[in-house]
Amino acid sequence: MSEQLFSAPGEQIIIIGAGMAGGWAAVTLRQSGFAGRILLLGDEAERPYDRPPLSKTVLTLAEEPAPAYFHAVERYGELNIDFQGGARVEAIDRTAGRVRLASGKSEPYDKLLLATGARPRALPIPGGQHALLLRTWDDARRIRAALAGAKQVICIGAGVIGLEVASSAHQRGAGVTVLEAAPSAMGRALSAEGASYMEGLHRAAGIILRFNQGVMGIERHAGGYRVNLADGTSLEGDLVLAGIGVVRNTELATEAGLTVENGIVVNDRAQTSDPAIFAAGDVTAFPHPLFGRVLRLETWRHAQNHAIAAAKAMCGDATPYDDMPWFWTDQLGVNLQVAGLPADATLTILRSGKDFAAVHLDADGVVIGVTAANNPREIRAGMGLMKARVKADQEKLADPAVGLQTLISR
Ligand SMILES: Cc1cc2nc3c(=O)[nH]c(=O)nc-3n(C[C@H](O)[C@H](O)[C@H](O)COP(=O)(O)OP(=O)(O)OC[C@H]3O[C@@H](n4cnc5c(N)ncnc54)[C@H](O)[C@@H]3O)c2cc1C
Repeated sequence: MSEQLFSAPGEQIIIIGAGMAGGWAAVTLRQSGFAGRILLLGDEAERPYDRPPLSKTVLTLAEEPAPAYFHAVERYGELNIDFQGGARVEAIDRTAGRVRLASGKSEPYDKLLLATGARPRALPIPGGQHALLLRTWDDARRIRAALAGAKQVICIGAGVIGLEVASSAHQRGAGVTVLEAAPSAMGRALSAEGASYMEGLHRAAGIILRFNQGVMGIERHAGGYRVNLADGTSLEGDLVLAGIGVVRNTELATEAGLTVENGIVVNDRAQTSDPAIFAAGDVTAFPHPLFGRVLRLETWRHAQNHAIAAAKAMCGDATPYDDMPWFWTDQLGVNLQVAGLPADATLTILRSGKDFAAVHLDADGVVIGVTAANNPREIRAGMGLMKARVKADQEKLADPAVGLQTLISR
């Protein structure tokens, strides 16, 4: 238990959204000394579970695994957290301090946390509804079942989700084609060099990648699906998946009159434009002190750490949130980790070791990102360089024999 910061037995905190952020916030509220009622409302049936396995082991393991829950069900009992699944919140009445559920029930709150996450963007083309989307446990089970008999899989979108599903489908023995409108893979998350490394991995495995590729429509027929392309040709597949980004679930916040700018706008303590309402995780747009701008992250580490910071802030902790952006992806047997913001870099320096590793610099030569395949040590050291705002010697950065950690204090 951490220091008791806040205690109010008669009060109620409601968390809307029982995903990663909602789950961690509930537990942290109690651990931070909140003594009132904690009501965790989620529209999915499951209690909070981990999403990363959904595009990886849930699709590839011979036996279907169970959801990877963050906390045993008994933990909610021990911590006196009232989790309600299948409970969709339809509106927030800020004047009355109440939320209204789809069931018709209404619940009062003293403080509210919005952890409503994001949903996959649907394909806005004729027949777009035939493309499967991946966000939830139910989505993953549907894709897993479809993969069982699939010989040809078409992934629309070469972002993390599209490429992870491509990798999993390949592992299951299917032929895979990835169609991407942009000129490269994972463009928002990687530098050009990182993208080209990942593209090389997929091509070496026999996965077909087609960039600058417009998709006009999807037709269903007795034998599967036909994907019509902008160049007049078409592709046949048994399974079509779309991974073309997400839409943040901001509607409740917008309708309640909170400030929303492609994400619920929060300050460095996860507080929205209403001091009684906080927001955390994928749904937010938050200021990052190190990078000096507003970020919108859709990553596991951010969802967890932002939620923990928000819960502590709701209990009175004034520490600003400054966690380093970091994500990983597992594709074709490679674990790629990315820290910082490589896509913002002016210069990328490759460290020519066994596997791909790169350090990314801004216009002033300050380290603002690190990307490394199968090398978490480089990432940890790179985070140290970023926090220290190091302008390291570029020759040393390029030399894999020079450990990045040795450059921190120079
Ligand atoms: C398939 C997949 C693989 C991933 N792999 C990786 C990875 O390898 N590495 C990595 O760093 N990140 C990965 N991520 C990202 C990471 O899982 C997310 O960033 C994280 O789950 C976000 O958590 P969240 O709680 O903010 O949002 P969510 O997980 O989206 O949770 C929000 C919850 O709120 C619910 N909700 C929304 N509106 C309402 C409402 N009105 N009433 C009640 N409930 C509501 C939603 O249904 C959902 O259950 C992956 C994500 C997915 C989908």
